[in-house]
Amino acid sequence: MDNKKILVVGGAGFIGSHLVEKLLKQGNEVVVLDNFSSGRPENLKGLDVRVIYHDIIDKITLSGFDQIYHLASLASPVFYQKYPVETALSNSVGTYNLLVEAQKHKSRILFTSTSEIYGDPLEHPQKETYWGNVNSIGIRSCYDESKRLGETLMMDFYREYGVEIRIARIFNTYGPRMRSDDGRVIPNFINQALTNKPITIYGTGRQTRSFCYVDDLVEGLIRLMNSDYVGPVNLGNPKEMTVLELAQMIKKLTNSKSKIVFKKLPKDDPTKRRPNINVAKKILKWRPKKDLKGGLKETIKYFTSVSVIKTNIKATKQ
Ligand code: NAD
Ligand code: UDP
Repeated sequence: MDNKKILVVGGAGFIGSHLVEKLLKQGNEVVVLDNFSSGRPENLKGLDVRVIYHDIIDKITLSGFDQIYHLASLASPVFYQKYPVETALSNSVGTYNLLVEAQKHKSRILFTSTSEIYGDPLEHPQKETYWGNVNSIGIRSCYDESKRLGETLMMDFYREYGVEIRIARIFNTYGPRMRSDDGRVIPNFINQALTNKPITIYGTGRQTRSFCYVDDLVEGLIRLMNSDYVGPVNLGNPKEMTVLELAQMIKKLTNSKSKIVFKKLPKDDPTKRRPNINVAKKILKWRPKKDLKGGLKETIKYFTSVSVIKTNIKATKQ
C-alpha cells in the first residue's frame, strides 16, 4: 500500500477519473482540482476524494502535495477548437501556475503531453527524439503548440530550478467515461452504431491511429511518475489501424445496421500516428495489455448503460 498525498488536476475528466480511482486503490490520499469544463462530477461518484473547483489559468495556492498529475486541458478536437484560447492557456499559463507551486512545495509533477506534438509526422512510428511537424497557426495549434510549450516549461523548471518533472506523451486513449458528445472517433462511432445512425468517417478513412485502453494508460502514468526518468515518454498502444477498419470493427461488435458514410476531412488532420514505446518498455517495464476488441467491448458496454449527454461543455475562463 502507498500513502502519498496526490493532486490530480483534471481529475474529473475521462483519464483523470480512472487515475484517481487507481491511486485511491493503492492507498493514497487524493485531491482533485478541476474546472468541470469537460469533466463531470459523476465520474468521481463513490470515490473518496476532496474536490477543488478551480481553473488553472488563474493563479492557485496549493498546500504541499507529494505528487501532482496535470491532466487539465480540453482534449477532444471538437472541444478545443470551440475554446482554443482557454486550451492554449491551460497548457501554458496553467502549467506554469502548477510548476510554481510544485517548486515551492517540492512536489513532483507529471504533465500529460500528447502525440499531437509530433503533428503530421514525417517519421513513423514516432520516437521521443522526433521533433515533429506542426503547423503553428492552424486550428489544432492551440492544443499541440501549447502542449509543446507546456513541455518546454516543464524542462526549464527542471533545468533552472531543479523541480522534479515527468512528461507523458499520450497517444489516442479510449474507454468508459468518455463523453457521448466528446467528438473523438471511438465515442462517435460507438454512439452512432448503437443508434443505427450513419457512422461518419472523415476523409477516406485511410488515415491511421493507434488506440490504447484507459487502464493500460493509467498504469503507464503511475509507473512514469514513480520512475527516475526525466524527459518525455510515449505512452500508447503500437497496434495501428485505419479509421475505416475501426468503423467496420465497431459496426460488427455492436451488430449495428448503420451505414458507413464519408465526410469532409478536418484541416490539419494527421495522416498517421503510431508510437514507438521502446523507452516505456525499457524504463517503466510497461506495455499495453488490453487488445482493441476487448477494450471496445468494455466501452460499448459503458455507452449502452449511460444516457446521452445533453449539456454543452463550457470553458470557465473567457
Ligand atoms: P477530458 O476532457 O476528459 O479531461 C480533461 C479534464 O480537465 C476535465 O475534467 C476538464 O474539466 C479539466 N480541465 C480542462 N481545462 C481546465 C482548466 N483550465 N482548469 C481546470 N481543469 C480543467 O480529457 P482526457 O481525454 O481525459 O485527457 C486528459 C489529459 O490527457 C489532457 O491533458 C489531454 O490533453 C491528455 N491527452 C489525452 C489523450 C486521449 O486520447 N484521451 C491523448 C493525448 C493527451
Ligand atoms: N474521425 C472520423 N470520424 C469521426 C471522428 C473522428 O473519421 O466521427 C477521424 C478524425 O478525422 C481522425 C481520427 O478519426 O482522423 C481520430 O480522431 P480523434 O478526434 O479521435 O483524435 P485525433 O485526431 O486527435 O487523433
